[in-house]
Parts: sequence; C-alpha cells; structure tokens
Amino acid sequence: MPRKLVVGNWKMNGSLAANEALLGAIHAQLGAGSAAVSVAVAPPLVYVPQVSQWLAAHGSALALAVQDVSNQSVGAYTGDVAAVMAAEFGVTYAIVGHSERRKYQAEDDARIAQKAVAAQAAGLTAIVCLGETLEQRDAGAALQVVHAQLAAVLKHVDLDLTRLVVAYEPVWAIGTGRTATPEQAQEIHAAIRAQLRAQSPQAAEQTPLLYGGSMNAGNAAELLAQADIDGGLIGGAALKAPDFMAIVQAAE
Ligand code: 13P
Repeated sequence: MPRKLVVGNWKMNGSLAANEALLGAIHAQLGAGSAAVSVAVAPPLVYVPQVSQWLAAHGSALALAVQDVSNQSVGAYTGDVAAVMAAEFGVTYAIVGHSERRKYQAEDDARIAQKAVAAQAAGLTAIVCLGETLEQRDAGAALQVVHAQLAAVLKHVDLDLTRLVVAYEPVWAIGTGRTATPEQAQEIHAAIRAQLRAQSPQAAEQTPLLYGGSMNAGNAAELLAQADIDGGLIGGAALKAPDFMAIVQAAE
C-alpha cells in the first residue's frame, strides 16, 4: 500500500494575510505531522516563497507543492516557471495536467507528459491529474479517457515511476459539490492501478492514487475507505483549515 497523501490545491485563491492565517491553523492541528499521512499545500506560484519561508520558520511537517511547472528547463519562455526554480524553494510536488489547465490553457497530453518529466528531472514528484468530462462519462467513455490520458504519460521513456502520484479528478465533480460516488471513484482507481501494474508491478504498489472533486469533511471517509484510493487532491475544502484537517484525519 502506498503511503497516504492529502494535497490542498489552493488554485488562484489567497493573499499574504490569508495564507499566513491558513498555514497557522493547519500547523496548529498538524503539529509534528502524521505517521500515516503526508500532507501538502499548493499555493499560487507567487506565494511559494512566502509559504516556503513560513514552513521552514515553524518547522512544519507540511510539504509544499506547485500547481504547475513549465515543460522547459530554462530560457525564453515568458511567464513560465521551471521546476528547478520551484525546487530551490523546497517544493516537493508539482501538480501537472489539472483539468483547469487542460481547459483554460489548452494543455494537451503530450505537453503534460513533458511537464511530469521536467518536474521529476528537477527532483520533484509529479502529481499527474486525469479525469473525464460529464459528456464523456455520459457517453460511457470514462475508463477509456482516463486510460488514454495516463498512457500518454506512461509512454514517456524518461518518466520516473518512483516519483509519480496520479490524481483522478472527474471534471464534473470539480467545484460542483457533486462528488463521484465511492464506487465510481474506486472503479476508475482500480483501472489506473491495473494500468500501472501492466507497466511495473512495483509502481502499482508504490504510486499513491488520489481522488479529487468536491471531496470534503463529510464524504472523505467513505472515499478514502476504498481499496485503491490513497488520498485526496482537495480544492475548495483546502481553504478552510478545519475542513482540510478533517480530511487529513479521515485518511489516517
Ligand atoms: P474541489 O475540491 O473544489 O472540487 O476541487 C478539486 C480540485 O480540482 C483539486 O485539484
């Protein structure tokens, strides 16, 4: 069984003051950390130095993630940030392929695979997001869509399977209050695990598979009780410390 992992994706929310308050409230509950669960937060990029310094100053057990990285390592890519730059700030994880970036920034599977490899090349663990739209689910294509999205990443010869996390985030469940049922999520997670196993039995055992999409304090326990759900990628509920910590506790 992979170690449990709960990641708060703050998306484009926060401010210097709000971040400090949220970190303080999480840290007050998390303390020295949990033996069973790794916990991370992914602030907007501009706040990474603030959060990095705060975590170091408080000896926090929280890990730091970024919401995206460039597929390039250096050079004339205006607006991009390289994974090596994030790594300088003590970042551990890089989320890549979030559906909001697939949709609003037109990121495709090939670009996302490059980002996963670029993150790993800088020493980060890539959290690769997958998920079908409502139309795709209604058409009965959820399994095929997720399979194809993961295949595009797994086929990359430079991918390091020891520093990979996969997050299943059905697009129709993100920010909608409509969660996948535990059975729906488990079905996809089991398929992801099988796809990983076909590539590497060891990777299948070690890769944490996160669920994301309206996970909250009320539904986390039954989702996390599923055999192939190893944690959560949390949006809205990650902005309130009591809700976020309730999810962490449900993962323990
Ligand atoms: P919500 O928890 O707000 O639905 O967002 C999920 C998500 O997209 C996390 O990356």
